[in-house]
Amino acid sequence: DIILLNESYVPRQEAKIDIEDRGYQFGDGIYEVIRVYGGRVFLLSEHLQRLKRSADEIQLALPLSLDELKQRLLELTDRTKLDEGIIYVQLTRGVAPRYHGFPDPAVKAQLVAYTKPMDRPLTQQQQGVKAVLVNDIRWLRCDIKTVNLLPNVLAKQKATENGAFEAIQHRNGTVTEGSSSNVFMVKKGVLHTHPPNNLILNGITRQYVIQLCSELNLRVHEQTFSVNDLLQADEVFITSTTSEIIPVIQIDKDTIGEGRPGPITQQLQQAFDQRIAELKTK
Ligand code: PMP
Repeated sequence: DIILLNESYVPRQEAKIDIEDRGYQFGDGIYEVIRVYGGRVFLLSEHLQRLKRSADEIQLALPLSLDELKQRLLELTDRTKLDEGIIYVQLTRGVAPRYHGFPDPAVKAQLVAYTKPMDRPLTQQQQGVKAVLVNDIRWLRCDIKTVNLLPNVLAKQKATENGAFEAIQHRNGTVTEGSSSNVFMVKKGVLHTHPPNNLILNGITRQYVIQLCSELNLRVHEQTFSVNDLLQADEVFITSTTSEIIPVIQIDKDTIGEGRPGPITQQLQQAFDQRIAELKTK
């Protein structure tokens, strides 16, 4: 397997990360996960823009321009002959003697990217999944896509231990987002999802679905809602790059709506499928 390590494409076995890489020691880094359908990279510019934003927010200087990074990721996708799957890309603040403050003088950010074949989760998309509720114990900059994912790891583990697909987080009863997804609910034909502020990651799929809604004349309220509202919703679904749109039909012991994927969720799934089909033929 070929991966991208800074400027070089190298076999994965030959890639070495220093024990004092700040991503490894402090979680001092950022990342993106990007979908590839039929060899075409989906929403690449959007993901790169968000990566740049994350970098700016943590004062991490990118070691290359977004255009150069784009070319390298496209080349990586070609070189690994990826058809259906993902690109993972991460940048850390580099390698320096362990000290919490930024290295002074600054060292070069370390870039790693690799691709991985991954099927679309069609079964979950068709049948819907269970979720569990967990307290959102994260920091107050959830808008930054950092590799510091321990609270998300613990949340997802709770889901797994309860036979659920995702953990839906709430802060004092206000629904924020999933452990690795955004959360939407439908009530009386209107969609609701948390506003894009410091308490959630503004998902690329979330933004894409909101765009689809406007094209389909579906109303979306980007406003907070409570756990109670969520449990009484007509439909609930989660969105993410890897999941796309997955209906949630049960949360803890509560059935959502009719206990099967709802009509608005399915309408959005169909529109999403259509876009992917179009991308593949371009
Ligand atoms: N929220 C969190 C916490 C996530 O980790 C993710 C997936 N990386 C998302 C939302 C969904 O974002 P996207 O649609 O850009 O994959």
